[in-house]
Amino acid sequence: MNFNKRNSYKKRIQQWGWNQGKKLRANIHDLNYFFWEATLKCNLNCLHCGSDCSKDNNCTELPAEKVLQVFSNIAENYSAQDVMVAVTGGEPLMRRDLFDVLNKVNQLGFSWGMVTNGMLVNENVVKKCAETGMKTVSVSLDGVRESHNWLRNEATSYDRAIGALRLFSKANKFDTVEAITCVNPVNLKQLDELYREIKNLGINSWRILTIFPKGRAVSSKALSLKADEFKELFSFIKEKRQQDSKLHINYSEEGYLGCDWEKEVRDDFYYCGAGINIAGLLWDGAYSACPSLSRNWIQGSINDSLFSDVWETKYANMRNRDWMKKEHCKGCHVWSNCQGSSLHLWDWDENKPQICHYRLLSINIE
Ligand code: SF4
Ligand code: SF4
Repeated sequence: MNFNKRNSYKKRIQQWGWNQGKKLRANIHDLNYFFWEATLKCNLNCLHCGSDCSKDNNCTELPAEKVLQVFSNIAENYSAQDVMVAVTGGEPLMRRDLFDVLNKVNQLGFSWGMVTNGMLVNENVVKKCAETGMKTVSVSLDGVRESHNWLRNEATSYDRAIGALRLFSKANKFDTVEAITCVNPVNLKQLDELYREIKNLGINSWRILTIFPKGRAVSSKALSLKADEFKELFSFIKEKRQQDSKLHINYSEEGYLGCDWEKEVRDDFYYCGAGINIAGLLWDGAYSACPSLSRNWIQGSINDSLFSDVWETKYANMRNRDWMKKEHCKGCHVWSNCQGSSLHLWDWDENKPQICHYRLLSINIE
């Protein structure tokens, strides 16, 4: 048996074991990741933004005491040390009391990380992040100067993002300092150049995403990759992962990709843990999982229930996904590997995933 055949056989067995683990995880639904959508305010107006964020500074935010009620409830019912808090927005740093809240969240025992566009990052912000227990930080970097500024719709945004990554890296206080790149047909051609720039920053992680049709990206279909472009991207990631052990390069958990790419472009097999081990508090007090999910997935609200009650009694449509076996997914031979793809890609109007990566990559099928 040659290497490729042996590797593919080995992966199929590993995938089977992974799928057994997924069933167990769905039954146990151990909370270990919690998104907090701190605000919808944002200081940019990106072409591809998947959030409903707004430059409107009057946009309502959940008051700090309500946010902290939720974190106290989680700490009382689960182990705060085992739950990573991911702070998102909007732009989290637009929230004035952000560090006051996160300081208390940290005192309850949680570790936290943040995704930022870097526009407001300076030495003082980095210091506050360290003092309030931030462990990981992800800064959006969507290409080399020209393509980043175009996508982010702001001429200074590239320099601000690079400056933020440098400051976080220089502080030497955080476990992970990460650049996040949304790949589109324009910056796909600049990935080698971007890779060299990222290496110069001395950061330790690079997360690569592709744009999915949500928020403003719905009207920017030209930003989505085609089948041959996905393959070009995955070949790039696979090669760099093999060559470079110092920079952790990972494709996001975005759809099942098939045996050729699974575990080659990311560390593990595809897995969508929304509602299984991932929950979230949205800007208005709604309980959901990832902020990238549409509001159809909301399971409850701080206004009428405790988070722990909702976590224990709701989230059924995320934990058992058999109801998603419709259209192509019905009878799909890799259903147990994919289970209808990432929940953020589910189209509630059409009752099917907005994109099937597996079919797209198996180009002969299309
Ligand atoms: S819904 Fe999307 S972002 Fe959330 S866990 Fe699933 S794949 Fe990841
Ligand atoms: S048809 Fe559905 S279950 Fe099968 S790979 Fe595509 S999205 Fe996944």
